[in-house]
Amino acid sequence: MVLNDNVLQKLNETLKQSRKSHFNKKRIPDKKIFSFEDFKMIPFTTKEDILKNAPDGFVCVPNKELYQYNERFRLTDEASVSWFTKSDLIDCARRINIGGIGFNENDRVLVRFPRSLSSTAHFTHIAAQMKNACVIPTSSENNITPFPRIVYLMKKLEITVLATLPAHAMFIAEAAQIMGYNIKSDFKALRAIYIAGEALTQSKRKLLEKIWDVPVFDNFGASEIGPLMIECIHRNTHPLEDSFLFEILDESLIREVEPGETGLLAVTTLTRRAAPLIRYLTGDRAKRVYNKCPCGRESSMEIQVRKKDSIIIENREFDLWILEEMVSHLPYNGMWVSEPYKDGIKFIIEKENDNVSMTSEMKKRLEENYRVSIYIELVEKGSLKNRQKLINPVTLNSKNLNDGGEQPFCANHVSCSELFNEKFLWRNNLLLKGWKI
Ligand SMILES: [Zn+2]
Repeated sequence: MVLNDNVLQKLNETLKQSRKSHFNKKRIPDKKIFSFEDFKMIPFTTKEDILKNAPDGFVCVPNKELYQYNERFRLTDEASVSWFTKSDLIDCARRINIGGIGFNENDRVLVRFPRSLSSTAHFTHIAAQMKNACVIPTSSENNITPFPRIVYLMKKLEITVLATLPAHAMFIAEAAQIMGYNIKSDFKALRAIYIAGEALTQSKRKLLEKIWDVPVFDNFGASEIGPLMIECIHRNTHPLEDSFLFEILDESLIREVEPGETGLLAVTTLTRRAAPLIRYLTGDRAKRVYNKCPCGRESSMEIQVRKKDSIIIENREFDLWILEEMVSHLPYNGMWVSEPYKDGIKFIIEKENDNVSMTSEMKKRLEENYRVSIYIELVEKGSLKNRQKLINPVTLNSKNLNDGGEQPFCANHVSCSELFNEKFLWRNNLLLKGWKI
């Protein structure tokens, strides 16, 4: 990799800034770098480092410059923390606005990411307001805005952009359908869905776009840093090279992979002041694609899910992208899960209706194409996710919500009588009697 003068200058400023932190003051040599070869001598930063040195180990500015604190918390983890100065925060929002989502003064943007302590909701909120859009701030982790109320707000306020986790965009649609709304005709003002926080595979994107009938814009970032890559209007993912130095490395972490090959992604911030990160191993795998995009950018990045989300069969890796592709060849479109089973992969799939069935020919073709044994178990709709829980007064389990960090909430405190419109009551009544919609 060749570092141009602009990047070298930003890099040297960042390294100098990072030495002000307790963590980096002895790790980063106090000398200027002149090439990528010099830069490669600097050690990596891992998630472990961030966890072990929380909360203040990476802070490089005095207290008076600190402007926002976020952390990502998992029940099994310590908190991964991040600090921002005012300019860092504005920069995160500005980076979102480089993307194709195109917030504007006519927008009403409903933001429903986890809000307490997490960062994405706040970045999105600021980005939309920066472009004079009106923000409707809600949260996915409280009892004030459960799915039915989101549906109701979207209808009542003629929301133009829904900003949420991919799984929740699906659940909101399902809640709307259960409440008796027609997604395509009842939410005509909606022009886009803005997604962040979870891996969005192509088939999941297609499904969301089909259900909502609007384009879906994704955003790839790290909770410790904010947006790292944006999707342009043509829905290609472009790395934000003005703000970050990206390395894609082989498994040994010594060499960069060849252009077009997939490797481990390491990121160095080039503009961050509060807590710069140097050669940060994100845990993601990425591939740089050199195809000129109609937006004018020369390269794109494809991000792959973390290894822990893959299924390994006899040393062959089936990541989420491949698993979704396999399911897309089946005549079912329901919710599914997969697991290693005997000598192959077992898919447990919810039946959407009883009119389709899989022939032995289909299964054989799939096994031949992917060279793996396939086992399929069909289960009734609602077996993997109980749809009634989307709208009924129950406590949702955080594990089912699949966003890593959301707290359970109880929807039975919803007191807004408008919420329970006639259609909703009618449908809900049927559901409670055990009828199928
Ligand atoms: Zn583009």
